[in-house]
Formats: sequence, C-alpha cells, structure tokens
Amino acid sequence: MDIASRIRRMGFRKWYERQLIDSHLSFTTCFLCGIVVASCLEALSFAEFGWKPASLLALVFGAIALGWYSWRRYITVLERAEVYGSRSTCPACRTYARFDVLASGHASEGPYLDPEAKPLPYPWLRVRCRQCGTAWRMPE
Ligand SMILES: [Zn+2]
Repeated sequence: MDIASRIRRMGFRKWYERQLIDSHLSFTTCFLCGIVVASCLEALSFAEFGWKPASLLALVFGAIALGWYSWRRYITVLERAEVYGSRSTCPACRTYARFDVLASGHASEGPYLDPEAKPLPYPWLRVRCRQCGTAWRMPE
C-alpha cells in the first residue's frame, strides 16, 4: 500500500508514529547485530578447524548483512517520516497533522517550485486542513 492510502486510512499522526517505531526497531536490530558480530569474533578461533569456527564465521557474515540492511532501512524510513513530518503543520492556522489527502502522485510528476531541485524519491500529497480549509503540498 502506498503512503497516500496509508495516511488516508490511519491518519497522519498514527502513520508518523508507526514510521518512527518501524525505523527504531530497525535501529535496534542493527545494534543487536553489532553485538552478535563482536561476541562471535571474540569466540572465533582458527586454532582448530571444524564446524564451530565455520558456523561462527557464517553467523558473523549473516549478522553483518542483516545489520547493514537494518541500518539502511532505519535511515530510509526515518528520512521519509521527517520529510513528510516537516510539512504536516497547516501553514495558515498551525494545526498539526489534521488534514485530508486530496490527491497524490509520483515524485517525477511535479510541479516543483524550484525546477533545479532534484525530485524526492517520495510521492507528493496535496492535503487540506480540516480546521481552516487551507490546502498545501507535501513534501515541498
Ligand atoms: Zn489550517
């Protein structure tokens, strides 16, 4: 499901909260993978070859891969949440996160205020404040 329909269904506040929980679970996974790598390297010894050092080495590589994936996910989800969160307050009445999604589209469809600006990898949303009716675009 895309961002616009998720925000429509659960509201911006809940969507934002879930993005923060999601990103910090990824951060925690990354941190735990770091502990697994450190403890496996501590226990790893090549003095004797066999099943144990091979499995510890496999665990180290697995934890590095999962840790890297979790770090990338943490950065991506947190950045996306911040991009939308920075535009979630009504520019007219300063009401936070109380808006309806009117329309949405892919990032390549513009329109952009600055034609030189690099398009974001996120879809744009046209939203309207429930308090005062002002419409704006997010992200910028
Ligand atoms: Zn408003």
